[in-house]
Amino acid sequence: MNAVPPNSASLIAALAGVLSDGGLLTEAEDMARYSRDWSGDHFGRPLAVARPSSVEDMSALMRHCHAERIPVVPQGGLTGLVGAAVAADGNEVVVSLERMNRIRSISPIDFAMVVEAGCILEDAKRAAEESDCILPITFGAQGSCRIGGNVATNAGGFNVLRYGMTRDLVLGLEVVLADGRIWNGLKVLRKDNRGYDLKQVFIGSEGTLGIVTAAALKLFPRPTQIETALVGLRSVEDAMALYARARRGCSDLLTAFELILRGGIEITMREGKDFHEPLGKPYPAYVLIEVSSGGLIDLKDMLLSFLAGVEDLVEDGIVASTRAQGERLWLYREIMVERQGRGGRYLRTDVSVPISKLADFVTDALFELGRARPDALPVTYGHVGDGNIHLNVVPPEGMAAEAIEHLFEEAEAEIFAVVDRYGGSISAEHGIGRVKQRAFLDRIDPVTLDLAAGIKDAIDPRHILSNGRILASASALDYR
Ligand SMILES: Cc1cc2nc3c(=O)[nH]c(=O)nc-3n(C[C@H](O)[C@H](O)[C@H](O)COP(=O)(O)OP(=O)(O)OC[C@H]3O[C@@H](n4cnc5c(N)ncnc54)[C@H](O)[C@@H]3O)c2cc1C
Repeated sequence: MNAVPPNSASLIAALAGVLSDGGLLTEAEDMARYSRDWSGDHFGRPLAVARPSSVEDMSALMRHCHAERIPVVPQGGLTGLVGAAVAADGNEVVVSLERMNRIRSISPIDFAMVVEAGCILEDAKRAAEESDCILPITFGAQGSCRIGGNVATNAGGFNVLRYGMTRDLVLGLEVVLADGRIWNGLKVLRKDNRGYDLKQVFIGSEGTLGIVTAAALKLFPRPTQIETALVGLRSVEDAMALYARARRGCSDLLTAFELILRGGIEITMREGKDFHEPLGKPYPAYVLIEVSSGGLIDLKDMLLSFLAGVEDLVEDGIVASTRAQGERLWLYREIMVERQGRGGRYLRTDVSVPISKLADFVTDALFELGRARPDALPVTYGHVGDGNIHLNVVPPEGMAAEAIEHLFEEAEAEIFAVVDRYGGSISAEHGIGRVKQRAFLDRIDPVTLDLAAGIKDAIDPRHILSNGRILASASALDYR
């Protein structure tokens, strides 16, 4: 009961007829921007690009694709980092959510908003702020990624340690199923124990179980004060000791705690004149600390008192005196992420280990990587307050494509072996998609695999949705 090859012009004509307002693209030049993701590493020509503008159109589209067994892949802002949102070359209809981008409602009393899945995260955040609230999902791609993509990847970001992952922020979902039925789980209730919590199945499912068309999201009171500091430290060990103290010393007001090793700061400084040595001289490790609050607390005083009490750990630091200065400190983190890829491809990892083991993990992983591939440049940073670290690998300049591929395989195997030793996860945030599939399936236990395959079969029996992501391709889809 699997999908069959989509192969005829009549099929495309039928799809065009299903969408009520001409939302189908089929010309190569129109489809180009739906063919490559942010990383540039993944490319796939869509069979067609469907852009429904309502849940009814989405439902009709999926009903048709189900009946005709046409494979589809939902697409948000294409900032996902595991190659899941681009089409299998020439074989899948991309379903873009970009025209379903309305904010349906905001209730500052419920502290909730209902947003369509194609809404860009930054637009949703701005709308929340206009109601004196915040939607706390925050990370570098927020100007491009879309709410449906955030739900489908269970996105994390800088503020997870205070507010949780996207999973913790979703109150309800509206999902169009593979067969076109609409599952309306869109509610803003804080407490609801009626049977299974079905929304959780769709969150983090990377487009393999349904197309999210809208989400009800938790909001929080907008902080009136935000304070940011950048500190330099001797080691990751000291950074984690600082985290343990910040967790208590700054109480629940700690919003972000981001580690950047020296190599990352050097990458940002290559940006040029505006990015000089941030603390006057180099340190092996840096941490960006952010605290935020409303109310009558003197937040700056609290942060300064905290920092005064950790002088045994902190070598040097600056506390931003204005919001603009704080945002500028964050740029060291954001520009590093963009710049590490300017020389070409690099290996991204996105792993987690228990917070208590993070410092040892980084030491061991960098040691094993250096032993196996001394030619590789590691770039290490992460949301260490969540035990999540990006240990990326940049190849030496001028290395041939085939050698780069080999380097990435070897480096990833070394890093993941250390993750396994520490009882960690090979994917803390970005998901499995296609890029991490082999490593994921190598590690999955048979019972988990059985349950996961059973869920897939029950919800998408014809395997038309995002086939070959997370789980292996259904064999009958092998139509190339
Ligand atoms: C600079 C940069 C920084 C980043 N930082 C972080 C970070 O800190 N934390 C983090 O978690 N991620 C981060 N990411 C990764 C990425 O931004 C997130 O995974 C994001 O949630 C993807 O959203 P998107 O709309 O771009 O989804 P896409 O890339 O379009 O799709 C991602 C996956 O979701 C599926 N999907 C998309 N929309 C839907 C839908 N409506 N229904 C069902 N499935 C759907 C796709 O099929 C695909 O499997 C970063 C990426 C970049 C480029």
